[in-house]
Amino acid sequence: MNSSAALRGRQDAALAPGIGTRSIYAERAENAQLWDVDGKRYIDLAAGIAVNNTGHRHPRIMKAVAAQAERFTHTCFHVAPYESYIALAERLNALVPTGADNRTMLVTTGAEAVENAIKIARAYTGRPAIIGFSGAFHGRTLLGMALTGKVMPYKKNFGPFPADIYHAPFPSSFMGISVEASLEALDRLFASDVDPARVAAIIVESVQGEGGFNVAPPEFLQALRALADRHGIVLIADEIQAGMGRTGRMFGFEHAGITPDLVTMAKGLAGGFPLSAVTGRADIMAAAHPGGLGGTYAGNPLAVAAASTVLDIIEDEGLCARATVIGDRLSAHLRQIAGRQGMEQLGDVRGLGAMVAFELVKDRESKQADPELTNRIVAECEQRGLIVLPCGTRANVVRLLPPLTIEDDLLDEALQLLEASIEAAFLGLER
Ligand code: PMP
Repeated sequence: MNSSAALRGRQDAALAPGIGTRSIYAERAENAQLWDVDGKRYIDLAAGIAVNNTGHRHPRIMKAVAAQAERFTHTCFHVAPYESYIALAERLNALVPTGADNRTMLVTTGAEAVENAIKIARAYTGRPAIIGFSGAFHGRTLLGMALTGKVMPYKKNFGPFPADIYHAPFPSSFMGISVEASLEALDRLFASDVDPARVAAIIVESVQGEGGFNVAPPEFLQALRALADRHGIVLIADEIQAGMGRTGRMFGFEHAGITPDLVTMAKGLAGGFPLSAVTGRADIMAAAHPGGLGGTYAGNPLAVAAASTVLDIIEDEGLCARATVIGDRLSAHLRQIAGRQGMEQLGDVRGLGAMVAFELVKDRESKQADPELTNRIVAECEQRGLIVLPCGTRANVVRLLPPLTIEDDLLDEALQLLEASIEAAFLGLER
């Protein structure tokens, strides 16, 4: 028995309930479409949470992975290293704009990349403290959770967390948190809680993903760069969700013209295969002693083959430019809906490139969050065959992350389905 209902029953009986899932049981997927085990077709505007930027099963990635599988699938890089890992590191070193000579290490998940960036920053500075931001998401490991600035569902009941982690408010024009206010809060943090001379790193997303697609204003990232320089702090750009062409540039921080010291990548890097990377200034990356970095599966050969093909595809298919076109269409359509009478609860439309979200509020004055309406929209979309994801610290944001390879007619269809779903969810509330 493999119907969705049957699988849900088996899942409930067999899996830890902490693994929260939707009930779209995947059977197969192709570019921007996914079919479930009941034969229902979905247009996928989640892309496996910003992983399938190059679509599901891009033919070139399938071919590269199959070719690698014919040679070897795992040796453990520490035991028997291979050329493809080195070649990918060379490409990432050339691609990541730190303004310096770079070095790279590969691991497997986003959280692992974050953990390693922190290890390296601590080894380089000899300092313990780390600064992150409210609304940030950096992973589900103990350190990842500690850095994450969102309690539900990520941190609740899971502490205590590692010491010497501090959070400052992330700017949000919608919530009235200005860049100046965020920077003042950082100053207060340095005065009241932690001496900046003890801070190893500041870690920041150019666009907060799980936190609600809050875009870091360029002047904020520029100010963080200056602050890090002033105090000898390592600036880590967490590009795990916003990177790999998603925002219209290879990395989201490029919109601000800054050069971070270390950059974490994962998700879109390997088009659906588990791979993550830390790339950064050679002098900083050299701080960790030989044997201090790595892991059994780090830089898995199949994932490395996928990643090097992803980089080719982003370039050959012009996916950065395509992200801008897709994002403009999504934002324009949503703004047009938000401008209509009766749509006042659609409080904000924001994003960068093809990372677009809208925020649902009880009304535009109080800006009180409306998570129920958010869930209704997500459910109406699902019913119509459209996969979208909720996010936000207040659980009241719907985010859209289409594959950058989505066909024009499917994008049109997705926009129609989204509009109908929003209308149905709003009508449902009035009943
Ligand atoms: N950092 C950011 C910005 C992320 O969006 C995520 C995943 N949502 C992570 C880190 C953690 O990645 P992973 O789930 O692969 O550990």
